[in-house]
Amino acid sequence: MSDHDTVPADVEHEEEIPEDHPRYQDLLTRHRIERGVEKGITHLQGMHAEGRGSAFDYLLGEETTPSANEAERAAAAVLLLAEHPVLSINGNVAALVPGEMVELAAVVDADLEVNLFNRTPERIEAIADHLRDHGAEEVKGIEADARIPNLEHERAKVDGDGIFDADVVLVPLEDGDRAEALDAMGKTEIVVDLNPMSRSPRVADVPIVDNIIRAIPNVTEHARKLADREEAELEAIVEAFDPEAALEAAEERIRTGAVDG
Ligand code: ATP
Ligand code: MG
Repeated sequence: MSDHDTVPADVEHEEEIPEDHPRYQDLLTRHRIERGVEKGITHLQGMHAEGRGSAFDYLLGEETTPSANEAERAAAAVLLLAEHPVLSINGNVAALVPGEMVELAAVVDADLEVNLFNRTPERIEAIADHLRDHGAEEVKGIEADARIPNLEHERAKVDGDGIFDADVVLVPLEDGDRAEALDAMGKTEIVVDLNPMSRSPRVADVPIVDNIIRAIPNVTEHARKLADREEAELEAIVEAFDPEAALEAAEERIRTGAVDG
């Protein structure tokens, strides 16, 4: 038995998780979700979503595959080309990558909008505060004065000058119904989801099959590199990206462990 096996399940601070632990990223992720639940920003259901994601990540080798990296680069190009990009934040996203989402929004000049499956005013406020603690200036989703058509009440609520008006939306860990409803509104959708067989990445223009804790910083890095490129060059990157191929590569990797995906 190595020393690492003695890491307690409920460490107080994430600094207590040894960085050289073979399951470091997974332990960190679980810890952040637990803290999110305690702080009232993540719904208990979010733990189940995390568990499913973690299983897929294990099978993907817990690394950004070459095809996921391509998707992250295409996502950066799509965000830079957008008229009005909006980054959607739910309880898991807020718990896992609050600062990273704020940073990406700044680099691609996007709005941040809280959008919850299990919507309560308390949780919306707690998430907005949490994002502000991580540097966000404006957080949308509180007013929620517009509706996504063809979706039941609470889950359909969005800001009229936010997601409702957006041409491009980044929806990480999105529920399949809402991803489909946003698609039907004609939005260009970027979805981050570790399960390539889930409905959400299947309706996405740019499905990113990667852990959000790796995906978002990598999209930001690509966006920084691409920021001063000509529009035509960004459009060519988007054109060359094939969402079907990205999903197939991820599924192949999960099913066979093939490393070229
Ligand atoms: P459906 O098939 O209707 O989409 P689902 O099983 O995907 O159902 P949800 O709760 O809607 O259920 O989705 C949670 C999704 O989020 C899962 O597909 C899971 O793989 C993904 N997920 C969880 N944690 C992460 C993470 N850290 N990074 C990326 N994806 C994640
Ligand atoms: Mg899903």
